[in-house]
Amino acid sequence: MSKLEIHQFPCHADNYGALVRFGDAGECASIDAPDDAAVEAALATTGWTLSHILVTHWHADHVQGIEPLKEKHGCRVIGPGGSKIPGLDEAVGHGDRFELGAHPVAVIATPGHTMDMINFHFVDDDVVFTGDTLFAMGCGRLFEGDAKTMWRSLERLMALPPQTKVYCGHEYTLANARFAVTVDPDNGELADRLSEVEKLREAGEPTLPTTIGRELATNPFLRVADPAIRAQLGLESAADWEVFAEVRKRKDNA
Ligand SMILES: [Zn+2]
Repeated sequence: MSKLEIHQFPCHADNYGALVRFGDAGECASIDAPDDAAVEAALATTGWTLSHILVTHWHADHVQGIEPLKEKHGCRVIGPGGSKIPGLDEAVGHGDRFELGAHPVAVIATPGHTMDMINFHFVDDDVVFTGDTLFAMGCGRLFEGDAKTMWRSLERLMALPPQTKVYCGHEYTLANARFAVTVDPDNGELADRLSEVEKLREAGEPTLPTTIGRELATNPFLRVADPAIRAQLGLESAADWEVFAEVRKRKDNA
């Protein structure tokens, strides 16, 4: 089995694209298609061959490159069902599994940001692509689902092995970190991470991927059971999803 290789690249104002090479002959999958020109440039840089597009959700900044890429490369488009994904060849949902080369991929549904949102977990490679559900020290806004739904979705990602590398749809890390310290001010690991992220962004470097373990230690949206965060918010006896809802509301208003 050839090793999974990942090429992450920025596009638009703050999106990330990613190519995942899984095949011995250089076949790769594009995670979403935020911008066909940026994906083409990444293909030219890597020399890889586009055979698949794995779509996380229907938002325009994740799907607008699908049709031109499909027309040029004849690639297979796998994504959530429903009528909103252009060029979809194969609809997948929670618990489905498929293989790319010899790499098993498990689909994890995480409704909340959108109701169609899915994540692609490369099970044997300890890699997950979370689209706009989980970000470094943040999570997606609730455009279509409620807080309880999103919290249950995040719990599915929290259950992945801690060493799992997390690739996200956007570089929102610095703003997320600056907000995170306001609800989790005594978290030393979070404070260290904020200064690390400030240095990376000053140097124009990406802050991603992250890992599930790192997020469990520093992401306030995942740490709602933490007594210090609950005390900070005055929600000592609330349900986890209620604390999550409050953190989300504060971030929306930050
Ligand atoms: Zn989105």
